[in-house]
Amino acid sequence: MKQHIDTAPVWEVYRQDCECPMCLLYGKSEAANVGYFLGESVMEPSQRIEVNQKGFCAGHFKQMYDAGNRLGLALITHTYMKETMKKLGDIAVQARDAAASEAGKPIFKRFGGSKGAGFQEPVGALKGIEDSCLVCERIRENMERYMYTLLYMYRHEPEFPELFAKSKGMCLSHYAQALEMAPKHLSGDVLKRFVDTLTELETKSFERLEGEIEWFTSKFDYRNQDKPWGNSRDAVKRSVNKLCRQVIED
Ligand SMILES: [Zn+2]
Ligand SMILES: [Zn+2]
Repeated sequence: MKQHIDTAPVWEVYRQDCECPMCLLYGKSEAANVGYFLGESVMEPSQRIEVNQKGFCAGHFKQMYDAGNRLGLALITHTYMKETMKKLGDIAVQARDAAASEAGKPIFKRFGGSKGAGFQEPVGALKGIEDSCLVCERIRENMERYMYTLLYMYRHEPEFPELFAKSKGMCLSHYAQALEMAPKHLSGDVLKRFVDTLTELETKSFERLEGEIEWFTSKFDYRNQDKPWGNSRDAVKRSVNKLCRQVIED
């Protein structure tokens, strides 16, 4: 990966107290991309072609809707819809053909292993439309670059491993991404130290959170009513965010 490495965003999130610093970068990337695709730049023809082809997933369409720029969203949704209707033309033919072939099969064959096999193609094409998302794609690219930067910093910036060791680890999604990318960009003792440190942080964080969420449930017992909440008030949110990625914002 030959590119300029901007370490500032990673330093910034690692200086904050949170369950997953990479999730903070994820949130920023998501907000920036949702804003971008509702903005002026998306009127550029090359960008428009990509939007029309790929569109957005349910979650990001919702975020764009909630952002309130209805005309901007209407313009891109209109041309994306026209492009999608072309695909729907092919899907309609496939679905009709599949039904006709299935209807024509003798009854014993219809209950065989290949029942409905002809529907796989149109179903796959529809799911492809549903899953395809330009915002998700951009976030994935950004997160890969941030994770690469983190691994680069772990190896080259003398003070970073110490700060990293004081963090609370990562959510499970970013823990997986770190383990996937670490052996590609680190090696030898540095790789071992990184994985050992991160894994220990995960274990400790989950033990701490498990206690915090347990105390949250105990607080609903009238005998504990007057006892202090400690760190448990927002334990449900932090636990959910830790188990997948930061899906519940502050
Ligand atoms: Zn995360
Ligand atoms: Zn998406």
